[in-house]
Amino acid sequence: MKKINLIIFETDVNRFSVAYLLFILEKEKFAGNFDLHFFKTRDDIRNLSESPAVSDAPCVFMFSFMSSLLCEVIENIAEIKKRFNPSAFSKNCILIAGGPHVTGDPDSGVKMGFDLNFKGEAENSWPDFLRLAVEKCGESRFREKILSCFASAVVKDERPVPLDRYLPFGDIYSLVPPLEIMRGCFYNCRFCQTATCEVKYRSLSSIEEFFAEYRRRLFKRLCFICPSAFHYSADKPSKINADTIEWMLQTAREKYGIKYIEYGIFPSEARPETINDETAGIIKKYCSNKRVSIGAQSGDSGRIARLRRGHGLDAVHNACETLKRHGLTAVIDFIFGFPEETEEEQLTTLAAIKDIHTRYGSRIQTHFFLPLPGTPLYSSRFSPLGQKALKLLEKYSAGGICTDWYAEGIEQSKRICEVLDSFQNNL
Ligand code: SF4
Repeated sequence: MKKINLIIFETDVNRFSVAYLLFILEKEKFAGNFDLHFFKTRDDIRNLSESPAVSDAPCVFMFSFMSSLLCEVIENIAEIKKRFNPSAFSKNCILIAGGPHVTGDPDSGVKMGFDLNFKGEAENSWPDFLRLAVEKCGESRFREKILSCFASAVVKDERPVPLDRYLPFGDIYSLVPPLEIMRGCFYNCRFCQTATCEVKYRSLSSIEEFFAEYRRRLFKRLCFICPSAFHYSADKPSKINADTIEWMLQTAREKYGIKYIEYGIFPSEARPETINDETAGIIKKYCSNKRVSIGAQSGDSGRIARLRRGHGLDAVHNACETLKRHGLTAVIDFIFGFPEETEEEQLTTLAAIKDIHTRYGSRIQTHFFLPLPGTPLYSSRFSPLGQKALKLLEKYSAGGICTDWYAEGIEQSKRICEVLDSFQNNL
């Protein structure tokens, strides 16, 4: 049986998605139909293009990516088009994309040269695509046969997806990503893509099934994906369900003997107003992390309100103080460069950073605004740091008050905004 080359863009940043997509492939029993290849750089593509095993068979190039990878994706598409023989490419190769960037802005995926752009959750569309590729594999014009099944290069899939459908375990990909227990968010912070999906939860029985398999495989470090850690299983934002979260963590630890459990830290950060004696106590009792990640994003009250965060700076102070009392350290995220942010606001945020660090010993992580597709701020652009604010930020990061991640963020945001603007200019 002829196999299809599934050629996957894989970086440190998108490995959780790659792992999950491959678990779906395996669970749906397509593993025997595909030869898997991975690439990250242009050199990897060149090597693949020189392999007869790849160039002689149908190829699906698959990219699942977020906007921060936009420049790498564009470079790699150009390299694929340069390295693969154009006549073979036009018969046998297809470029497909999914993930947060094309979900938020599928038209930009078309402009980048993807043949198919899958918008939305993958649990239905990905196995459907794999099935179709397998059906068309033996046919002479693989590419044409596949593309003729789609009315448009943008493939929207709005069928509901229960989170329980797949567990992230398989045998063909070694990484087991953190368990996704919540998708979507009750809040709608204007810079964040998470809320573009409705809130849904993995059931406790599915979570227990995961713990059992985790123990069977002798894995030791358990993490969760949950956009707002203490909103797991909440019916509404104002009513968190701490008992259920405690039961989940207690079950992992006591029934399944999993020793190293992380909760309330990436990728399951907590909103500040959800930290109280009860939730801090749960982390302290069942988890191995001594740090808890909290989103503050700005120290300026007007900006916090305009971002529609749904809490004030007082909630950040309360969270830091509570965590400190429980022997935990708050790790607070701040973003600079929001559209129309003034230097005065930046200086207010810097004063808040210093205050929070001094009072509670909290660690401060600094980021820089990146416009994300599907959010209200996608078409807005960053505000540069004012001179005084930049000097202070440099001083604080050199002095260990905060990280210097903002500096890389500025460069990344400049590069990516340039690409996004070029899409706009080539309508
Ligand atoms: S920033 Fe956090 S709280 Fe706000 S929408 Fe995103 S995930 Fe939800």
